[in-house]
Amino acid sequence: MNKEEKSQYYKRWREKHREQHRRSHGQRNKVYRAKYPERRKAEQAVERAIKKGTLIRQPCEVCGDPRAQAHHDDYSKPLIIRWLCDKHHKNLHRRKKEELITLPHRKHTPIQ
Ligand SMILES: [Zn+2]
Ligand SMILES: [Zn+2]
Repeated sequence: MNKEEKSQYYKRWREKHREQHRRSHGQRNKVYRAKYPERRKAEQAVERAIKKGTLIRQPCEVCGDPRAQAHHDDYSKPLIIRWLCDKHHKNLHRRKKEELITLPHRKHTPIQ
C-alpha cells in the first residue's frame, strides 16, 4: 500500500464509521420516540370520548380543582383515567418515580 492508497483507505474507513455511528444514534432516537405514540393515542382517545360525551371531564379527585387533566396509569387502557389538577398530577408522577427507585424489584426484576 503506497501513501496515496493508505490515505484513501483511511478516508473510506472514517466515512463508513461515521455512517454507522449516525445510524446507531438514529435508531436510539426512533426507540425513544416510539414511547410516545401510545401516550398520544391515549390522550387523543380521551379527547374523542369527551367530544362524543362518553367521557365526562371531572374535577381533580384530590382537591376538586376544575382544571383537571386526564392521567393514565396505563396507556394501553386509554379510557381508564384519573382526573388530577396540574399540581396533583405532577405529585403523582413524582411519587411514581420514587416508587420505582425505592421498590426496584417490583418493576425491574423479571419473573423467573
Ligand atoms: Zn388537585
Ligand atoms: Zn399522568
